[in-house]
Amino acid sequence: MRKETKCIQAGYTPGNGDPRMIPIIQSTTFRYDSSEAMGKLFDLEAEGYFYTRLQNPTNDMVAAKIAALEGGTAAMLTSSGQAASFFAVFNIAGEGDHVISSSTIYGGTFNLFNVTMRRMGVDFTFVDPDCSAEELEAAFRPNTKAVFGETIANPALIVLDIEKFADAAHAHGVPLIIDNTFATPINCRPFEWGADIVTHSTTKYMDGHDTSVGGCIVDSGNFDWMAHKEKFPGLCTPDESYHGITYAEKFGKEGAFITKCTAQLMRDLGAIQAPMNAFFLNLGLESLDVRMKRHVENAQKVAEFLEKNEKVAWVNYPGLPGNKYYDRAKKYMPEGTCGVISFGIRGGRAAAEEFMKHLNVAIIATHVADAHTCILHPANSTHKQLTDEELTAGGVGPDLIRLSVGIENVDDIIDDLAQALAEV
Ligand code: PLP
Repeated sequence: MRKETKCIQAGYTPGNGDPRMIPIIQSTTFRYDSSEAMGKLFDLEAEGYFYTRLQNPTNDMVAAKIAALEGGTAAMLTSSGQAASFFAVFNIAGEGDHVISSSTIYGGTFNLFNVTMRRMGVDFTFVDPDCSAEELEAAFRPNTKAVFGETIANPALIVLDIEKFADAAHAHGVPLIIDNTFATPINCRPFEWGADIVTHSTTKYMDGHDTSVGGCIVDSGNFDWMAHKEKFPGLCTPDESYHGITYAEKFGKEGAFITKCTAQLMRDLGAIQAPMNAFFLNLGLESLDVRMKRHVENAQKVAEFLEKNEKVAWVNYPGLPGNKYYDRAKKYMPEGTCGVISFGIRGGRAAAEEFMKHLNVAIIATHVADAHTCILHPANSTHKQLTDEELTAGGVGPDLIRLSVGIENVDDIIDDLAQALAEV
């Protein structure tokens, strides 16, 4: 199946007389004929479901669709993108371990790593995504367990050189984890460039309609855990908390990571996606290919309009030929990047505030990457506590406006921006 068909059909094939649509299995628990039959599930000897805190059939069908889109071998849904990032890293890095991450990742992920996971004893080194191979090499330590980055960084819109990061990770016998939220597998498939694990905030383009917070982890099935046994005891030695199973032996490269993540982390932390949300996510996935094309087409036209407007001081969109990441974006995402643009208006913070007051089509929201055009002035909202100097140092200057271009008629979006700019 090609990706357009996978969006509609992957993950669930109805049998004779079955519902055409993925059924919502809104049940916390599942019935078995005998304790013996259920015991086989607990021993991971048989496939099946026993409690929705760990796994649910609706979720698994939707996860299988995302795995098919990414070209992976196994996947799981989580309650949010934050949970997906946390589980993906914590599944292989614990107390005393070290992880290398691109410094320009989503602020929530940065805080998760830099504050919460540090408290749990995991150390992080943040590297400039555009660092040289030598600088990246210097960040590795004997206890490094993973490398992490975003395909397109939110909100900096930096396109990651995935191959550079994958080569460095593999040279040190550790996997590369990529957050592919902004590009989606429609525009970039990180596994084809060497990434081993992919995460998503499905809250964004995948759901696409502002209905459901969610996340997903996908395993490429390529990383050979057993070849680096000493680094990954959690996968390569018996799990005494789970009937002495050695995940990498029993489930191989293809299934070990997701099985361990489900059997241990989902069991203990319970950040499961509600089956109803998984159903909404599936509806979003069905139109993902069509929507991504429209997001890219609209964003390109909006970026070109902004670039020509005399009130606009600068525009950052990787689809613009003058953009620093234009060539890299063409390599990794030949069909386009995403619908998110950042720009600044002449007149700085005050001008940005005035401009925002006059918008009608673009709604002011702390969100990105969905069907509705939405806009945010970080200096006046998410980053309000920072001074102008601190904002500039953090790469989110006081004039920066983040615009997430939706799939409305692009002329309405442009007219709206034009009339608001005229008021400044
Ligand atoms: N990753 C990226 C790139 C994001 O933009 C976000 C949220 O904005 C997240 C992860 C976290 O996802 P969620 O809000 O679903 O927890």
